[in-house]
Amino acid sequence: MSKDYYKILQVARNATKDDIKKSYRKLAHQFHPDKAGGNEEKFKEINEAYQVLGDEHKRAQYDQFGTVFGDAGRGAQQGGFWGAQGQQGFGGFNFDFGGGEGQEFDFSDVFEDMLGGFGFGDGRGGGRPQSKKGRDIQIDLEIPFEEMIFGGRHEVEIQKIAQCARCGGTRAEPGTKLKKCAKCQGTGKITKTQRTILGTFSQIGACPDCLGKGETPEQPCRECGGKGIVSAREKIEIFAPKGIDQGEVLKISGKGEASLSGGVPGDLYAKIYVMPDKTFKRQGNDLVMLLPIQFSQATLGDKIDIKTPDSSIALKIPEGSESGDILKVRGKGIPFARGYGRGDLLVQIKVQTPRKVSRKAREAIEQLKKEGI
Ligand SMILES: [Zn+2]
Ligand SMILES: [Zn+2]
Repeated sequence: MSKDYYKILQVARNATKDDIKKSYRKLAHQFHPDKAGGNEEKFKEINEAYQVLGDEHKRAQYDQFGTVFGDAGRGAQQGGFWGAQGQQGFGGFNFDFGGGEGQEFDFSDVFEDMLGGFGFGDGRGGGRPQSKKGRDIQIDLEIPFEEMIFGGRHEVEIQKIAQCARCGGTRAEPGTKLKKCAKCQGTGKITKTQRTILGTFSQIGACPDCLGKGETPEQPCRECGGKGIVSAREKIEIFAPKGIDQGEVLKISGKGEASLSGGVPGDLYAKIYVMPDKTFKRQGNDLVMLLPIQFSQATLGDKIDIKTPDSSIALKIPEGSESGDILKVRGKGIPFARGYGRGDLLVQIKVQTPRKVSRKAREAIEQLKKEGI
């Protein structure tokens, strides 16, 4: 176990979801980097812990395996939904409060506003207030069992807020110009005061008329009505990498919704559901299968053709095999997420006892009995 998330969140291992959430909120406030006595490292750690323990599926995985599969650094396309790598400073955090549970307060907005307002955003800095990133989209992606082994490609179609194709997000009818925004006198900024449970913040925000750009269209785009965004269906390609597992989340950067305020688009998160297989079960990076054999095969040994995920092989059953014995076929399991190589195929033997025997067989078995077999 790399990190004790329970210890980090100061909760018992059997803590309820609510307790975890409560403790997380308290600690997140206490260690928030913008506060006196704040601690960025600690804040990140708390956030990371909550991304796992706050999610039932991840928590179960963590409890069982002491880690969360595919939680970080698995290549460019994917990364931790709960990894909190924060590659864009604080802008990269994902505050998951398990939305839709009727929470009374949206912290993510506050943090985002604060961080944006204080220039922690994505490093573009400058005098302009930061625009909010577009919303992230979360989808479920069902994949066939063999894709865990060989990887695969999917095309999903998503209805979302996208940049207007007609004006390219400029908001102006093609061929027309932008003019200085009257509301903010072209500065793109307005001052707003916001009351939060952390105190009252007076901050400079983006002008709502020009979305912080300082200019508004002379003639709004016909397609989007001058908003620069439209609701559209988009086909998105998702690649599931080899070794992917149930519950893992793929991040497709920039494929979320377009920003409502001229910021960067959100990201798309695809949570993986693996369809079960009739023959194989996954166990870590190994595949397990059951192989029923006859009593005579178990006693005398044999060679049996079995199907591996890749092809067929002749498996040697050693003399004197017993039910429960496991025969290992090396390198025919699940590819390792990091590095090269694959797990093994574990073939578990099940010796079948005949329920009906012929008269001749019965005589032979009676003979065996006499011999003490
Ligand atoms: Zn448009
Ligand atoms: Zn303006």
